[in-house]
Amino acid sequence: MEIAEIKQKLESYKAEGKTLFSTSSFQTHSLVMLHILSRIDNTIPIYFLNTGYHFPETVAFKDRIAEEFGLNVVETKSTMPRYMQKDHAGRLLFTSDPDHCCYINKTAPTGELLKTYDVWINGVRGDQSATRRAMDVEQEAPHNTIRFHPMLDWNMKKIFAYIREHNLPRHPLDAKGYLSIGCEPCTRRLDPEMQEREARWFGLNKVECGLHTDLVKK
Ligand code: SF4
Repeated sequence: MEIAEIKQKLESYKAEGKTLFSTSSFQTHSLVMLHILSRIDNTIPIYFLNTGYHFPETVAFKDRIAEEFGLNVVETKSTMPRYMQKDHAGRLLFTSDPDHCCYINKTAPTGELLKTYDVWINGVRGDQSATRRAMDVEQEAPHNTIRFHPMLDWNMKKIFAYIREHNLPRHPLDAKGYLSIGCEPCTRRLDPEMQEREARWFGLNKVECGLHTDLVKK
């Protein structure tokens, strides 16, 4: 979607009395949507899912971007404390059941947000994975909400053209070879032959955390 269309869509949601929120992982490529939103309406809450496993660089970068873009960034996290997030052998869940770990730390807290708001502005792009390619710009989500995907038809080339044009900052780990950055235990550097999402949950048959598979009405 072009920026004027995104603006128009957000205005039409608001005219219908719908409440809006967004989420972000604060990676370099996520900044484009955040920058666009900051120029349309910087009061829209941008939730950061604090799993407790983020790289310290991501947390610091999030604070910097909130300040520089003037965004209303809000942290949210699981209601289950870390000491309870263990398997029967006492290991933290990301080591043995990452799907459940992602559910507790990402999907469940976002599901709670869907009970409060009407529209989830979500920056997924079709070129990131087959799951995302199959999504629509507007999709029904649980609790009678709408997922709005304004970046769905943007690709990496267009994203980086925007970043250069607006001189947006880069996540500090980009320079160290990371491209898709999530929680520290489940992220690795990208090798030249790997696709973007393969840098996550490396070696496992998992490319999504559940936000884009569970929180979509099927
Ligand atoms: S990405 Fe890894 S550490 Fe983060 S919530 Fe998912 S399994 Fe847990």
